Amino acid sequence: MPAQLTLHAMCCGRLDLARRLFFPDASAEVRMTVPVSAFLVRHPKGTLLFDTGVACGATADPVGVLGKQVAANITMAGAANENALHQLAAQGLVPDDVTHVACSHLHFDHCGCNRYFRRAKILMQRSEMLAAREPGSQYDPRLWDLSLDYGLIDGEHDVFGDGTVMLFPTPGHTAGHQSAIVHTSRDHRFVLAADACYTEEHLKHDIVPTLHWHESAMRESMARLRSLREQAGTEVVFGHDQAQWERVEGAGGALL
Ligand SMILES: [Zn+2]
Ligand SMILES: [Zn+2]
Repeated sequence: MPAQLTLHAMCCGRLDLARRLFFPDASAEVRMTVPVSAFLVRHPKGTLLFDTGVACGATADPVGVLGKQVAANITMAGAANENALHQLAAQGLVPDDVTHVACSHLHFDHCGCNRYFRRAKILMQRSEMLAAREPGSQYDPRLWDLSLDYGLIDGEHDVFGDGTVMLFPTPGHTAGHQSAIVHTSRDHRFVLAADACYTEEHLKHDIVPTLHWHESAMRESMARLRSLREQAGTEVVFGHDQAQWERVEGAGGALL
């Protein structure tokens, strides 16, 4: 494992939404605010971003940028600098410095800034792109129908060829959802779950959120995350877990 690899968590938006969207048993009027995360991996062979968060202009113009349906259900609650471009700049980087974008899936809060990464290989599961392209698909074409350098993958993928950053399918939330395992040292690794599991509570109690593509596939993916977590030195980073995020922010976003 190269000692130079670092992993940094960035806040790329915050969503205010009905708790029932996450927890089907919650009462309708209760709301919650959750972070949107993206992760920067610096590796000797390249710079990778796992997800790109919400589109930059979404807070100022939610209906125009995200569409009426999303804007009706979700309020953008992030600060002006909580987006991929500002967060990268804070790390001394511009989009052209990023060589790889690993896209967990094509929902607005995970690929909103993909369009800026014109020099990067955009790595996603082929099944996710095929689902987006299907006639009648609910995916917003402004998020995926872009002239980017897509690298469509089928199953597991070793990004840098040395086992340090592994992408693996975690379908269920969407058809082609993927998560990542980042080995930060020989005996420590982080599993970036994204929406394969929103929060610790979902994993603990096997809760499938209201919005999902396939329930049993989602349960299988959560079971895989659970078994990964049982292995020594492994930490699962959830897609939208406010309590976990507070700990990450407390450490300045530096996971390593
Ligand atoms: Zn999602
Ligand atoms: Zn999400």
